[in-house]
Amino acid sequence: MAGILKDSYNRPIRDLRVSLTDRCNFRCFYCLPHGEPPIAPKEQMLSYEEIEYACDIFVELGIEKIRLTGGEPMMRRDIEQIIFKLSQLKTPMSDKLQLVDESANDKLKFVGHRGLRDLALTTNGYFLPHRAESLKTAGLDRITISLDSLKRDVFKQMTGVDVLDRVMEGIQAAKDAGLEPIKINAVIVRGHNEDEVADFAAFAREHDVKMRFIEFMPLDSGHEWSRADVVSGREIRQRIEERFPLEPIEESRGSNTASRYRFADGAPGEIGIIAPVTEPFCGACSRIRLTADGQIRTCLFSTVEYSLRDVMRDGASRQEIIQFIEGVVLKKEPRHYINDPGFVAPSRSMSFIGG
Ligand code: SAM
Repeated sequence: MAGILKDSYNRPIRDLRVSLTDRCNFRCFYCLPHGEPPIAPKEQMLSYEEIEYACDIFVELGIEKIRLTGGEPMMRRDIEQIIFKLSQLKTPMSDKLQLVDESANDKLKFVGHRGLRDLALTTNGYFLPHRAESLKTAGLDRITISLDSLKRDVFKQMTGVDVLDRVMEGIQAAKDAGLEPIKINAVIVRGHNEDEVADFAAFAREHDVKMRFIEFMPLDSGHEWSRADVVSGREIRQRIEERFPLEPIEESRGSNTASRYRFADGAPGEIGIIAPVTEPFCGACSRIRLTADGQIRTCLFSTVEYSLRDVMRDGASRQEIIQFIEGVVLKKEPRHYINDPGFVAPSRSMSFIGG
């Protein structure tokens, strides 16, 4: 059996983000403002069989969480099929005893628990009113829905589309389908929505959802990010506490991206603050990414990629693919360099990387 993936800094890699497409029906100004065409033609995108095969190998290598993302992953018509196939990886490996003693063919030995524990999706919510149910039926565990404003005009200005009501319906549809607990992602950008931070907290209480506030990162295709536009995690927390006192959720943060809080008055809902710019958490990073065209990225901010697609399509054996992945993981960067003077933003925006 292959070893558990670890990088050269001894960080175990447990979390895989898989981008299903680099197409998106939104034009969020902090990501893909001009709707650049997909970087690769369709035949260079991984098919659902290739995604399934790659994920099966990643799970053998110890990946426990898979998050499907994009682009807008629900623009991929075969998403239910992909979810169904990946949900099959949730069979714990402990159920699959492995033959270890070849001299006595009937001897089987327990080799430990491996298997997918969590299959999640990040979406802009547009397609959920009609498809939340089918995602759940296909085997999806959890969903994160992006929502950058509660005001129609600001939502339109930030996302490029006038569909706030429809996304709200999508959130309700996800709840009705039982895709709970629902997480809501809001990227907070100075001059756009920082005045809504406490309103989002009120929304979390009212709808019993987990709000995730994200600092604006230099991953926009227009390369217009500026430090002055970043609303720090600290400021986000202060803005919430002015209206709703918070208590940290006492647990070891582990490789979680968010610092988590509950409402001090016991109200439902949860707050999470993701502050990669002002409070980097690279030391505990357990993530690796697979782009829609089959490139492995070892960090959101990597400037190099490794083509798993080419290795798979060149007819490599499973063992050769495992060796390739292990080698790539060893090259994972110790940290991102956003705060260093010579920082160069990756050429691909979040929508092409898979956020
Ligand atoms: N289309 C889906 C969605 O809207 O959630 C999934 C892909 S999107 C790239 C994933 C997440 O990345 C979203 O929550 C989005 O807000 C976030 N994101 C994109 N660009 C970002 C940036 N420059 N800084 C911080 N977060 C960003």
